[in-house]
Amino acid sequence: MKKIGIVGGGQLGKMMILDAKKLDYYFVILDPTEHCPAHSIADEHIVAGFEDQEAMLQMAKKVDVVTYEFEHISVKALQAIEGMGTPVYPSSETLLHIQNKYHQKQWLHQHEIPVPDFMGVNTKEEIKEAGDKFGYPLILKACTGGYDGKGNAVIQTEQEIEGAYEALGGGRLPLMVEEFVPFLKEVSILVCQSLNGQVEVFPVAENIHKNSILDETMVPAQITDEVRAKAFAIARKTSKVFHAIGMLCIELFVTKEGEVLVNELAPRPHNSGHYTIEGCYTSQYENHIRAILGLPLGNTELIRPTVMKNIIGDHDGKANLCGLKEAYENKNVQVHIYGKEEVKKGRKMGHITATADTIEEAVRQVRDAHKKLYFS
Ligand code: ADP
Repeated sequence: MKKIGIVGGGQLGKMMILDAKKLDYYFVILDPTEHCPAHSIADEHIVAGFEDQEAMLQMAKKVDVVTYEFEHISVKALQAIEGMGTPVYPSSETLLHIQNKYHQKQWLHQHEIPVPDFMGVNTKEEIKEAGDKFGYPLILKACTGGYDGKGNAVIQTEQEIEGAYEALGGGRLPLMVEEFVPFLKEVSILVCQSLNGQVEVFPVAENIHKNSILDETMVPAQITDEVRAKAFAIARKTSKVFHAIGMLCIELFVTKEGEVLVNELAPRPHNSGHYTIEGCYTSQYENHIRAILGLPLGNTELIRPTVMKNIIGDHDGKANLCGLKEAYENKNVQVHIYGKEEVKKGRKMGHITATADTIEEAVRQVRDAHKKLYFS
């Protein structure tokens, strides 16, 4: 029986386990929260912080391969695991090139993968230089640790530089700036590379964000064949260039001129790929597990139009789910609840997916079900 270690016991880890349990694999998770989403279905749970290298090594000793469900973990700890002979996928080398957004953009740019204009900045004067070069608005980003838009600031005028610089920890933390891309759409493409060299690409997904958090994903994306072909080419090349074994999510901007630019990468299954569970013949979670074990990958084609909507907390309190009966009156929807004990404003609590003959019908059902579900 294969034993797999996952750093992180959130919803992404949980969905990996759910899919891989059909092959009866054994899972050890490492997460500081005792009742984290994956806790109830993991075979073993090491309750420890992500900075605890000893605990990571302890997990690695118990398993055949280690993976992770989020990228803000220590590359050094992954190197130590690899050093003791347990493989880690995506490897520490892949994470090293991705974890810091500036290094990630440099690596993409060096390999001629299109990205928005960007620049590393250390001082307010350098941000001003970037403003002179790229024009306003300008996006200031923390190079590490950002998620759901936290760690980004839009600078509209030169007068806003100081506030944004202070807010993102300028002088203490590494920062970068990017030209503001007036994109037409945000899409993402998920690509999976198996240890055996096989690469499979999932359909392009169209993403709608609310308050910088993913709200809805619609597949197929409403884009031209030319844009789709560009996205597929970027996905294959990026997966190879970063030696990204397992799932890699590539978030893209599509401009009205049909240009496709990489916004950022996540070396793992991704929220915008939840749709693959019901929408594709093989989910991103199953292919991730197959990939890190060197197995052939499953078919990534879309079965029929699919829409995913996140269930995001709108208040703080206990997480008692209500309205499931009413939501299920939409017979095409599937509801996923992650099992977080507390609701928090802006927290991802679950998601709903609908597949239908048309994208319009899937949207209708998913939104209706979403209206009926709430936490009391
Ligand atoms: P995070 O890592 O927090 O998800 P991102 O860098 O992906 O942050 O940015 C979050 C959102 O900010 C993006 O989904 C996009 O809407 C917007 N954004 C980021 N970079 C740019 C840019 N260069 N131009 C325009 N909008 C951007």
